[in-house]
Amino acid sequence: MDETKLCKKCNTVKARNCFYSNTGNCKPCSNKVSKEYRRKNHIKIINQERHRRRYCIESIWLNRHSQMRRSVEGRSTIKRKCTGRDICTQQEFLNWCEETRPIFMKMHKEWEESGFKRKFIPSIDRIDNDGGYALDNIQWLTLSENSAKDNLQYLTTARTEDGKFMKRDY
Ligand SMILES: [Zn+2]
Repeated sequence: MDETKLCKKCNTVKARNCFYSNTGNCKPCSNKVSKEYRRKNHIKIINQERHRRRYCIESIWLNRHSQMRRSVEGRSTIKRKCTGRDICTQQEFLNWCEETRPIFMKMHKEWEESGFKRKFIPSIDRIDNDGGYALDNIQWLTLSENSAKDNLQYLTTARTEDGKFMKRDY
């Protein structure tokens, strides 16, 4: 019986026991190949997960509520003065999202058609900037509409005649 075998990977003749059974590569080469394979797949899996987290609708909703919570808890990285304001619960918010799903889907479609451009990200706007994230004070706005509104808040035109704040006409 042949006591040596040629590894096709490193092109080296090695003893039989340096090979796993029925493989053309020696043990170190086999380990290297499978490690590389796992590493590549791992990245692929991570990217798929990242994409899913970012674009799956329910994940976006959960993410928006987390942002709102960070904001009222004063943990937001974005400069927003709404620490301590009221906020709906996660379940209340998800129910509201279901109710406003057609609006969200329309905005999501625009966002997708733009190639997921940042300015089209559906964001949660506080209708009255002095209020919090109660259900009667939130609406979906694109990120650019939301920041345009932030810039407008110092102008009287941001309020309607009866003193109400600008609300999106979907
Ligand atoms: Zn080898």
